[in-house]
Amino acid sequence: MLIRSLLLWIAQNKTVRRMIEFYGMHTKDSFARRFVAAKTLQETIPILLDLYQQGFKITLDILGERVTNREEAVCAADHYVYALDALAKKKLTPQLSIKLSQLGIDVDPALCEKNVERVLKRARRYQTFARLDMESSQYTARTLDTYYSLRRKGYNNFEVTTQAYLHRSKDDLTRHLKNKSRVRLCKGAYLEPASIAFSKKSDVNKNFFHLMLRLLRQGNHPAIATHDENLINAAKAYARAHNISHKNFEFEMLYGIRRDLADRLVKEGYTVRLYVPFGKEWYSYFVRRLLERPANAWFVVKNLFVEKFSMKRSEPGEVQTAR
Ligand SMILES: Cc1cc2nc3c(=O)[nH]c(=O)nc-3n(C[C@H](O)[C@H](O)[C@H](O)COP(=O)(O)OP(=O)(O)OC[C@H]3O[C@@H](n4cnc5c(N)ncnc54)[C@H](O)[C@@H]3O)c2cc1C
Repeated sequence: MLIRSLLLWIAQNKTVRRMIEFYGMHTKDSFARRFVAAKTLQETIPILLDLYQQGFKITLDILGERVTNREEAVCAADHYVYALDALAKKKLTPQLSIKLSQLGIDVDPALCEKNVERVLKRARRYQTFARLDMESSQYTARTLDTYYSLRRKGYNNFEVTTQAYLHRSKDDLTRHLKNKSRVRLCKGAYLEPASIAFSKKSDVNKNFFHLMLRLLRQGNHPAIATHDENLINAAKAYARAHNISHKNFEFEMLYGIRRDLADRLVKEGYTVRLYVPFGKEWYSYFVRRLLERPANAWFVVKNLFVEKFSMKRSEPGEVQTAR
């Protein structure tokens, strides 16, 4: 309870936010780099190359969400198109993760769909894929509407995410399976009311397990997106027992979490895709990672303390000299 309160305080306190934003990413070893690759594409490229070399596949996420005007929404799509072009020049064609709130769904759904279409067209040029992240429940129906509208327009290089904590996901999955949609299954990262989401972790895990088995049996190359070793072992055992080739599904994990497990799965011959986020708008993503794990509260407090007292009297907002 104490730790949960500390985490919520970290998430909501303006001064703490400024400190985290200032100290979190300012050097290569800063604490937010555990979860966020870098602030720029340029700095992210060597990290991607290294991960490819270690046998991982990549989903690239340009961080940002909830834009409030058309310019920002168009600019977010520009960034994705630019990143695809720049990476292709280096012979890198990662899949992308996109958020509709970043591409303008709150501003104008038609503009948002156009923005997604631009990204999908460019991804298609490089024979790659985009994965649609699923945000908080206020976006679920709109995200699925956009997804199926684009599928009807013929975009098949496009995958949707299902969150096991939502009650509705069982029915959503029936629809996805019927439409041969590619699905990423995750537990869900937002705070949702008990009226629409399982609040007990054991219920979320149980639902994940059932949805996962349906995807393994009937899915179109599903992505099992979790770091939960029990669920990963269950997927492996089910696939073995039912002669499902490990080429028919993949595991997907977040950059910076359970690398030991990811490495082991690659060695065992499974496809493991790492979700690599980068960009200047990293704060909300970082806080979601903190809220997932109480131990992360101490990690941040300790690092803020170390950063604060190891820097030469500089304060958030001041120009920083190298340490
Ligand atoms: C590829 C990918 C895409 C995702 N896309 C979405 C999305 O579109 N929408 C959405 O709502 N959520 C998304 N998520 C987040 C997801 O919903 C969970 O919040 C997150 O993955 C943690 O749950 P878990 O399945 O790892 O299980 P948990 O039971 O939470 O964790 C299992 C183990 O993983 C480790 N772990 C998990 N989280 C952390 C952490 N933050 N820090 C340190 N260790 C940790 C711990 O060892 C823990 O015991 C995505 C996750 C992945 C992997």
